[in-house]
Amino acid sequence: GGVELFTDISSLKSIDSRIKELEEMALLDRLTGLANRRFIENEIVIHLSEEKRFQIPFGILFMDIDHFKKFNDTHGHDVGDRVLKFIASTMVKNSRPFDVMGRWGGEEFIGILRNVTHEQLEDLGTRLRVLVESSYIAVENKKMHVTISIGATLMRHDDNMDTLIKRADTLLYESKSAGRNRLTMG
Ligand code: GH3
Ligand code: MG
Ligand code: MG
Repeated sequence: GGVELFTDISSLKSIDSRIKELEEMALLDRLTGLANRRFIENEIVIHLSEEKRFQIPFGILFMDIDHFKKFNDTHGHDVGDRVLKFIASTMVKNSRPFDVMGRWGGEEFIGILRNVTHEQLEDLGTRLRVLVESSYIAVENKKMHVTISIGATLMRHDDNMDTLIKRADTLLYESKSAGRNRLTMG
């Protein structure tokens, strides 16, 4: 007897959506090499239960590039992509080995910082904000700058994924409306 090893999947799913699925399974964001959204969600679920069982606190930094649409419109999408990669590497290089930095979506990043106090979370977030503000990428001998706004919050005992992310997102929005390039803790 024989076993059929190969199946024509074209009728089931487009190749594109299959590739996308596999990328997500790989848990890494293709452009930046950071954790992707699914990876971040997995990590948050683990951390939520860790906090509940062992009282290991953690906090998240929700970060978004300021006026990035304008940046893309002015300098082009490819330069924008370079900025995303550069910010990703700044985050990785300046975080602790047990922190997870990820790309949540387009120009939004989330950092998960384990075992931190309110002050430490604020300090680590501010450090990243200032590092991004004071760095640049060189394009045709010109220095390109961007800034980021941050919402920072510690996990609370009755949090679930949605309440935690929602609170961080609201705090981020406060940073935006207060003038951008700042961190709001809550
Ligand atoms: P705000 O300060 O309020 O955040 O303004 P913004 O322009 O950054 O925000 P908005 O959400 O309006 O625009 C996000 C922009 O990010 C839209 C798009 O041009 C850009 N963007 C999203 N994903 C990518 C990407 O993968 N590469 C590049 N180059 N740009 C991206
Ligand atoms: Mg955004
Ligand atoms: Mg933005």
